[in-house]
Amino acid sequence: MQQKIRESIAEIQKRIEQASLRSNRNPSEIKIVAVTKYSTLETTKAVLDEGLIHIGESKVQDVIPKLNMLGDRGIWHFIGHLQTNKVKDVVGHFRYIHSLDRISLAKEIEKWGKKKEVKTNCFVQVNVSGEESKFGLKPKEVLEFVKETSKMEYITICGLMTMAPFESNPEDTRPIFQKLRELQEEVKSLQLPHAPAQDLSMGMSNDFEVAIEEGATFIRLGTILVGQELKPTH
Ligand SMILES: *Cc1c(COP(=O)(O)O)cnc(C)c1O
Repeated sequence: MQQKIRESIAEIQKRIEQASLRSNRNPSEIKIVAVTKYSTLETTKAVLDEGLIHIGESKVQDVIPKLNMLGDRGIWHFIGHLQTNKVKDVVGHFRYIHSLDRISLAKEIEKWGKKKEVKTNCFVQVNVSGEESKFGLKPKEVLEFVKETSKMEYITICGLMTMAPFESNPEDTRPIFQKLRELQEEVKSLQLPHAPAQDLSMGMSNDFEVAIEEGATFIRLGTILVGQELKPTH
C-alpha cells in the first residue's frame, strides 16, 4: 500500500507541475489535501509517512481514532457538510473547515473557538454550479455573509471553496472555478477584518488540473491518491 501511495503522489506531483507550468504558477503554491474520508487509519498513516501533511476528513465520528493516533502529525481539514451539533468536536482539532455555509454554523464555530481559545480557518463554501444537491451559498450571498463573519474573532475567512459537478470532460468545469476566483477577488478587495481570503479550495481527483490553472491553492484529492477502500456500498 505504501508503495502504491508513493507512486500516486509522484504521478500527481508531476501533473501539478505541468498544470502550474501551463498557467505560469509556482507549484509550491499548491497544497494537496489528502482526502482519507473513505480510508482506514493505516492508509491515513501511510499518507503522512509519505510526507503529505494536509489531511481531509468529513465524518466526525470516523476521524476520532485517527486524531487520537495521528493528530499531531498532520494538519486536519474538515471538508464535509458540518452539522451544528458536531462543531464542538471539530473546533480545536481541525485547523481548517472547508464547508462554512450558514451564519448559524459560523456562530457555533465562534462560540466554541472562544471557549477553547482557538481560531479556525474557514473557507466559505459556494454553490457556484447551482445544483440542488450541493451545499453552499449562492454566489450573490457571499459578500454579505463575509461582512457578517468578519465581526467574529475566532473565525478567519481564509478563502472560498467549491465543488464542481462531475464532468466527463474536466475542461467543462473551468467556468465554475473562474467564477470562484472572481468572487475571491471581490472578497479580498473589501479588506475586511479576519477575512484575508488568500486561498481557493477547489479541484478534486477528476478536475484538479483545471482548478490549478484557475488559481486553486488547496486541491482536495481522494480517489486518485488512496482509492475508496471504505466507501459505503448500498
Ligand atoms: C470526497 C471529497 C473530495 C475528494 O473527492 P475525489 O473525487 O475522491 O478526489 C473532495 N472534496 C470534498 C468536499 C469531498 O467530500
